[in-house]
Amino acid sequence: MPLIDLASYRPPANLLQDRVILVTGAGDGIGRTAAISFAKHGAQLILTGRTVSKLEQVHDEIQAAGCPQPGIYPLDLTGATAEDYQQMADILDREYGCLDGLLHNASILGNRLPLQYYPADVWQRVIQTNLNAPFLMTRALLTLMQKSRDASIIFTSSGVGQLPRAYWGAYSVSKHGIEAMSAIFAQELEKTSAIRVNALNPGATRTHMRAEAYPAEDPGKLKMPADIMALYLYLIGPDSLGVTGQSLNAQ
Ligand code: NDP
Repeated sequence: MPLIDLASYRPPANLLQDRVILVTGAGDGIGRTAAISFAKHGAQLILTGRTVSKLEQVHDEIQAAGCPQPGIYPLDLTGATAEDYQQMADILDREYGCLDGLLHNASILGNRLPLQYYPADVWQRVIQTNLNAPFLMTRALLTLMQKSRDASIIFTSSGVGQLPRAYWGAYSVSKHGIEAMSAIFAQELEKTSAIRVNALNPGATRTHMRAEAYPAEDPGKLKMPADIMALYLYLIGPDSLGVTGQSLNAQ
């Protein structure tokens, strides 16, 4: 259950001023909109994703809006290793010295098939991208986040991460792993750091992934990414101080 009334939440324009925030999958869909929205609320963005041309477009849009100039950190989560994340932490430490927000947003859908017929290579790709990558990235970036006066980590879940759903295979399993990992990080960090950790389910939202998952659905009936930003802003910014270990729905 959200801890605020999302419908009436109106964050101030400077909510995220002087905060460094990294968004994965920032080139498209919800991640793109979240990155732009965070920047418009004053944050210094680090845009990560696998398609550089898309990240450059988001960069240009943020710059054109007069927001702090974002950094671009290209990274394919499917292939990245623990060493790549350590290198990322070292570079971000040098460039920014601190990390105040981390939105784990990128993921892939995989196949919708019975587990009995689920291809092993797709299973590994989905678990690698959706679950192993956020684990390795969080682990590597924690030292940098501990330098923040209060930092926020958001893991992106899904309805099928809250209840297992037949035929959703590795995606549903990966999102259950995300829910568990978010809760465990929250418990472990609560007493020892100023880092809060929460899981967020965006709910049905008009993106490429949604169209791939539900090809027969009328996209006109879905919320746009911009319609669900209240919970993202609340959780990533200081208004959610003290909120940790929650699993929340944006709709
Ligand atoms: P999209 O498919 O529209 O966007 C996903 C983003 O993740 C893209 O920017 C994509 O990059 C990036 N990405 C995918 N694979 C990789 C990779 N290997 N390395 C780096 N970046 C990668 O998805 P949505 O915006 O719909 O979803 C965002 C999040 O919300 C996901 O975690 C999803 O599971 C979750 N969600 C979405 C719902 C919805 O209805 N849309 C409902 C419930 C949960 P590129 O563009 O370069 O491919």
